[in-house]
Amino acid sequence: MISAVTRVPPQLAPGFWISDAHPGAPRAPLQGSRRVDVTVVGGGFTGLWTAYHLLRLEPSAKVLVLERERVGFGASGRNGSWCVPELNAGPTLLAGHFGAPRAAELHAAMRATVDEIGQFCSQEGIEGFDKAGVLLVARGRGQMPALEATQREWEQAGMTSPYQRMTAAEADGKLAVHQMEGALFSPEGASVHPGKLVQGLAAAVERMGGEIFEGSGVTSIEEGRPPRARTELGEVTAGVVVLALEAYLTQLPGWHRAVLPVYSLIELTEPLTEAQLASVNWRSRICVSSMRLTVDYLALTPDRRVLVGGRGAPYRYGSALSPGLEHHRATHEGLRAMFREWFPALAGVKFTDSWGGVLGMPRDWIPQVRLDRGRGLGVAYGYTGHGVATTHLLGRTMAELIAGRESERTDLPLVGHRSPAWEPEPLRWMAVRYVQRQLAGLDSRAARGGRPPSGRTVAERLAAH
Ligand SMILES: Cc1cc2nc3c(=O)[nH]c(=O)nc-3n(C[C@H](O)[C@H](O)[C@H](O)COP(=O)(O)OP(=O)(O)OC[C@H]3O[C@@H](n4cnc5c(N)ncnc54)[C@H](O)[C@@H]3O)c2cc1C
Repeated sequence: MISAVTRVPPQLAPGFWISDAHPGAPRAPLQGSRRVDVTVVGGGFTGLWTAYHLLRLEPSAKVLVLERERVGFGASGRNGSWCVPELNAGPTLLAGHFGAPRAAELHAAMRATVDEIGQFCSQEGIEGFDKAGVLLVARGRGQMPALEATQREWEQAGMTSPYQRMTAAEADGKLAVHQMEGALFSPEGASVHPGKLVQGLAAAVERMGGEIFEGSGVTSIEEGRPPRARTELGEVTAGVVVLALEAYLTQLPGWHRAVLPVYSLIELTEPLTEAQLASVNWRSRICVSSMRLTVDYLALTPDRRVLVGGRGAPYRYGSALSPGLEHHRATHEGLRAMFREWFPALAGVKFTDSWGGVLGMPRDWIPQVRLDRGRGLGVAYGYTGHGVATTHLLGRTMAELIAGRESERTDLPLVGHRSPAWEPEPLRWMAVRYVQRQLAGLDSRAARGGRPPSGRTVAERLAAH
């Protein structure tokens, strides 16, 4: 029996995306006893794509989704909007684990998944999908070695890079970033409107006969044949229970060390005028990031606001999760400062929204999907900051595994993969905080003196595995 340890009252996801998607009244909570084919725990992208693809494969299946808060309350309704084929694990790591041919198959499946999300959006009339590509920029000479290493990594892993090398002058035409020394551009990435996507997906699931209950946190799961999921007011017996909880998985006993919860924070500007965007050549909803070791990411919303996101909020002892951790003053201030450094011409632009959310990082950086029929349990998680597209791939794969359909996806190396558990505390806290502090220090040294990180420090090595 798995028992959930915490319960919070139902609430609307904070942040711009969900409120901009006008979520309407909450769905009713589950009450009483039900018997269904599949119960999905978690109403984010993973859970909803699983339900959607199951209903496509088996239109008469009884599929029920239990969401503790509202649909999209977690990372799915709060993210940076990048919908890209890269996983958090780079080519070297993937090729090292699975071999170059299998890693290349995985990348091809991810490329297809981005286009499938685009097709889904156009078929369902969901606004916001825009395949404008990804630009990785080296800001300052200190970031050039990392840019070059990123491009070399594909070659060394025996894979074809989707990135094209650009000089600063060439990349300037895509986006005029101050102090840009060079860039890599890939046409394969898209931006989405996460709030509209997650809600449109939930609406499609319901139209196809799936049921979604909000304010229905699962308080315990009884594994077996059949498994049961209990909420405060109800209980569901199912053929399979799918855990689609990402960082929140750590709140279930037995899963505490499956991922490391990492807070990513976002600042959003007011809508920019056409003239302001033109002043920095921002003509498309291209996804942009620098080569810093502490992740940063920028995107443009459909209504022309600039979203600036980044990690940097400190890891909390015991993998603590709490709404209080969704804001970290120093990181939010750093994101606003970063925007002004990147675009001095836009220094007068105001910030209107700021929020944060939690993502789940597996110990070896590799996402995974597994179905254990004996336990009656399916699980898909571990996307780190690359879940917008990957949740579709793993949700679809989970549906195929449950329906017993073989496909090119069910043969992918993420199927059945199991990352090692994170270290117990206090070792976890000591190591993660050490790596966070060291990487931030290396970034500031590179920014101040142009001295690039060597790639050989203990922190960099730990962060790469
Ligand atoms: C700030 C931020 C920025 C990001 N930016 C990007 C990006 O630009 N591109 C990208 O690819 N990825 C990004 N990510 C990661 C991406 O958003 C996630 O990987 C993805 O949304 C995970 O989806 P999910 O459905 O697995 O998990 P979630 O969306 O977290 O969904 C889990 C759901 O489970 C619910 N839940 C929790 N406990 C229970 C319970 N006991 N019972 C029932 N329900 C429960 C939660 O309320 C939540 O709705 C970002 C993440 C964050 C936090």
